[in-house]
Amino acid sequence: MQYQLADTWPFGCKLPMMKSAHYSMLSALAIFLSAGIAAQAQQPAADPTQPKPKPEETEIWKPVPPVVAPGATLGAPPSDAIILFDGKNLDEWVSVKDKSPAAWDVHDGVATVKKAGGNIETKRSFKNYQFHLEWRTPETITGTGQARGNSGVFLASTGPGDDGYELQVLDNYQNDTYVNGMVGSIYKQSIPLANACRKPGEWNAYDVAWTAPTFNDDGTVKTPAYATVFLNGVLVDNHFELKGQTLYIGKPFYKKYDAAPIKLQAHGDKSDPISFRNIWVRELP
Ligand code: MG
Repeated sequence: MQYQLADTWPFGCKLPMMKSAHYSMLSALAIFLSAGIAAQAQQPAADPTQPKPKPEETEIWKPVPPVVAPGATLGAPPSDAIILFDGKNLDEWVSVKDKSPAAWDVHDGVATVKKAGGNIETKRSFKNYQFHLEWRTPETITGTGQARGNSGVFLASTGPGDDGYELQVLDNYQNDTYVNGMVGSIYKQSIPLANACRKPGEWNAYDVAWTAPTFNDDGTVKTPAYATVFLNGVLVDNHFELKGQTLYIGKPFYKKYDAAPIKLQAHGDKSDPISFRNIWVRELP
């Protein structure tokens, strides 16, 4: 290898270097280092006529965030969570169709979708929140594409049927479909950053931060909705800005609402129904 002394560097010294690709690497390093120096140089110089700043001037002490005891295990509800399903009953839920008691099958600490019973939604309405839910596709699952363990979490249920904003639930373990409709997608809007779906028979967990859209008096959008979603601890939607309600056909649009229930989908595909457990929510400002 041939080395030569480079021209004088910005630091006023000479460096040994190679003529070839390494030269560009060193140049890039020099640019990077000088950029750092430039960035530092942007910090305003201390004004000698002013008193010396103190660290206390940039400390914020009030209001103090509330103490929240985390759940004993990952996914267990923290102390301020509203429990939506703890394995005992669906008292927090109603049928979307007629607001009668939710008729899904509660057994062995889980709630299994009753497809003929239709979608269910919470009695309570929410704006912004943190949400946790676990679901399992049965080991006996059959079907392909969208017809395999299809369900969904509507982060805001804004009307009958599938009206609202759906975070897709689907068995995508070795099962392909359109990527903006796979598990972890905001249905037909986001493409999840990863496929972290567990095998049929194993429990999956969703953790969601939902920022509800806000609207002007005339119904136009003031601020759009955002969703951040973890599937089994893997980030799949990172502060994703929604284009409106999620639609099977057509382009999404926003429809004014204030607070809305959370809805779970009873999808009409022929595969065996999936089950849910451990559902809780923490309301956020
Ligand atoms: Mg669905």
